[in-house]
Amino acid sequence: MSTREEIQNLYQQYVMTTYASASLALVRGKGAYVWDSEGKRYLDFLAGISVMNVGHCHPKVVKALRKQAGQLIHVSNLYHNENQPRLAQALVERSLKGGKCFFCNSGAEANEGLIKLARLWGSGQGRFEVITMRNSFHGRTLATLTATGQEKVQKGFHPLPEGFVYADFNNLDSVRSAISGKTAAVLVEAVQGEGGIMPATDEFMKGLRALCDEKNILLLVDEVQAGMGRTGTWFAWQHYGIEPDAFSLAKALGSGYPLGAVVAGPKVADVFQPGHHASTFGGTPLACAAGLAVVETIEEEGLLENVRKMGDMFRSELEKLVPKYKWIQCVRGRGLMIGLVLNCPAKDLQMSMQEQGLLALATANTIIRFLPPLNIDEKIVKRAASIIRKACRSFDKQAGVNKQ
Ligand SMILES: *Cc1c(COP(=O)(O)O)cnc(C)c1O
Repeated sequence: MSTREEIQNLYQQYVMTTYASASLALVRGKGAYVWDSEGKRYLDFLAGISVMNVGHCHPKVVKALRKQAGQLIHVSNLYHNENQPRLAQALVERSLKGGKCFFCNSGAEANEGLIKLARLWGSGQGRFEVITMRNSFHGRTLATLTATGQEKVQKGFHPLPEGFVYADFNNLDSVRSAISGKTAAVLVEAVQGEGGIMPATDEFMKGLRALCDEKNILLLVDEVQAGMGRTGTWFAWQHYGIEPDAFSLAKALGSGYPLGAVVAGPKVADVFQPGHHASTFGGTPLACAAGLAVVETIEEEGLLENVRKMGDMFRSELEKLVPKYKWIQCVRGRGLMIGLVLNCPAKDLQMSMQEQGLLALATANTIIRFLPPLNIDEKIVKRAASIIRKACRSFDKQAGVNKQ
């Protein structure tokens, strides 16, 4: 097998440097653990950025993929396959009853689908604008990076597509004043992920629903990161007692097999008609077999309940660190989508955790983001907490770190 250096050199020579150079090459995963090319084991509290919600190589997912791969992988959407409507049914029954799904391959593509749906819906009345939030993240295609309310992802890619207007997250007045006769929809994350694990307030989400109803515009929720059980409900908007008109899914939906979806409620479920939208790979028998295995696993293993329990436990372990270190500001998040908010850059603490054997991710510069698999148990939470305590002690001692 290649060494870490050999793999790193191959990357340097042949792969575009769109990602900061990685310090690890991983070769194997099981449950909440991964192993690197040197044989070192890590507790994976990032789970492929909320993709491996049922853990690495879950036997049920592996079995479903193996079986379907030997039977039928792809037929195009010119022909029916049984898995696609079964998965659509499973998603709709758990979310927007009377709704329908469109399948694609990624989060950006799912959000692109939401945006196209909103534009087509509004086209009769000259409504095309989509209001998105500052500090949001919706993907890297031209439309979705424009929807993303962060200049750093847009720099160098102008001219950007028209029709996006920004408002402040958790500020209803800001959204209200962004609405015009051209507004078709509001697109929002119920918990901002890349923006720093920032949950929407109850008042904001309920207020958005009422505002969209009042102005007859669509409420769209990006559930790419927070969906599929991550926050303790199937979809994060379900915490707020409201329903969006449509929402997007990807990341955990296929447990690492690329799969995204637009789930539309009855109001907009039939907006797309033949010729309006398509994807060659969207909803293949293989991808949907993975999706079905994920839904069944979350249900059969009682993972929504487990997220609430383990989320509380892990959070209270992290809370204990807040009074101990001046450079820790607070803990925030929902379920097993948790951010440790620092007063200083978080990258070195991330690296310190990695050295001690735990993977997490520095986000929005000063936040450590934890997105562990949803089926972790008490023992794993304790082990993670112990590693994080060690990492904090060593980070605290590091000389020359700019800490307040
Ligand atoms: C990751 C993410 C996306 C983009 O998904 P890709 O599969 O990388 O295109 C969009 N929205 C949110 C909230 C995300 O976390």
